[in-house]
Amino acid sequence: MAIRTWWSLAAASLAAGAAVAAAPRANVLVILADDLGYQDLGCQGSPDIRTPHIDSLAKNGIRCTSGYVSSCMCSPSRAGLLTGRSQSRFGHEINWEGDDPTGRKGLPLDQRTMADRLKAAGYRTGMVGKWHLGDAPQFHPLKRGFDEMLGFVGGGHCYFCDEYRTPVDGKPVSGYYTLLERGGKPEKTEGYLTDVLGREAAAFIHRNRAAPWFLYAAFNAPHTPLQATSNLLERVRHIPEGDRRTYAAMVTGLDDAVGAILGQLQADGLEESTLVVFLSDNGGPLERNGSCNAPLSGEKGGMLEGGIRVPFLVQWKGRLPAGRTYDPPVSSLDLMPTALALAGVEPAADWKLDGVNLVPFLAGETQDVPHDALFWRMKARSIWAVRKGDEKLVMQRERPGKHPGGPTPRLINLATDLAERNDLAAAQPARAKDLQAAYDAWEATLPEPLWGVERDGTSARPRRNAKEKKP
Ligand code: CA
Repeated sequence: MAIRTWWSLAAASLAAGAAVAAAPRANVLVILADDLGYQDLGCQGSPDIRTPHIDSLAKNGIRCTSGYVSSCMCSPSRAGLLTGRSQSRFGHEINWEGDDPTGRKGLPLDQRTMADRLKAAGYRTGMVGKWHLGDAPQFHPLKRGFDEMLGFVGGGHCYFCDEYRTPVDGKPVSGYYTLLERGGKPEKTEGYLTDVLGREAAAFIHRNRAAPWFLYAAFNAPHTPLQATSNLLERVRHIPEGDRRTYAAMVTGLDDAVGAILGQLQADGLEESTLVVFLSDNGGPLERNGSCNAPLSGEKGGMLEGGIRVPFLVQWKGRLPAGRTYDPPVSSLDLMPTALALAGVEPAADWKLDGVNLVPFLAGETQDVPHDALFWRMKARSIWAVRKGDEKLVMQRERPGKHPGGPTPRLINLATDLAERNDLAAAQPARAKDLQAAYDAWEATLPEPLWGVERDGTSARPRRNAKEKKP
């Protein structure tokens, strides 16, 4: 590969006798939102939600306008992000419903995470928030490369700490209501969950300020249940009462937490030695949490852009330009190779990573694009997609009046039809055939998914959104 990493550029400068010190290894901060709508940040054009701290990443860094995740759903998306491999390559293709008492479902143990790789390179590794890569002990984050963790292993969580419970009379507690855990042990916490996670993320940065570190700040906001404090609700009182208002309050809380994290980074003088990425694990689920994916069609759980294209912001002060947008497609799968390059680690071929180091692209050092094609599959739902250049072939069932789709794959030109309304497959059969062939060739390399959609959990997940308004 002709792409030069930041590391190799630094080495080249040294070899040329330039008066530069050996580049220190940069820190890696991944801030992940959960079920955030594509439009629901100020920098993404939201008309009603204000997110000055998250927007600062776009102002001081780069906003990727075609930023993708590798799945339209929480757990597989995280499996892709943290391994740097499409989760379809190892069968981790769909969520499981609720808790998993079988203990079978989780990130396959033969896969290595970004935390595994960076820990091996001498980084201090930490995570806060939502894991959702397996409930059983063998899948625990502390066994997947993380030195530290404050959070929960399930797929979601309630937000008011005084509702958290320990098992009574041996009766299991739904993952949504458990006490948080630190280092595998339950820990009592106080206040609103998003605040707790933001404070812990900031504390991790300060504790480890002298060492290279990797922090995976995986907020569950603004995933359901819709719960916000009265203070947050007051700050979005311009929005009529209802799900959208509570959701906006939760995004406001997330922005506060990001502000706490970025403030700590600045206070510790780490802004120029830390690459910060902000993204969502999948698109907004619209009615479920009041999110908005405009101008995209579709939502969480589907292969239209609204399911897989997410806000994607990258800041590295002093290294990447400020206030720019970057339009070629990039992927959450790129975060692993990018992180490895920052750590000075050359990925081995048998790691079979799918992404590329984004820094040379975002820094404008190459006019190549990161990807010839990006692929998605969720076999249990018979949905898939491939994007090459501006063209996308997508298999997605129609939901009349809601999402465009059809019984056969649809060819879309995203440059002229971002909302995926116009199927060009009949008019341009050769183009459709080319993308179909590319998809088929990729799909032929995939194993069967490890699990399907069967429901075997004890899910006591809150089906209705609790509307408590606490101070
Ligand atoms: Ca999600």
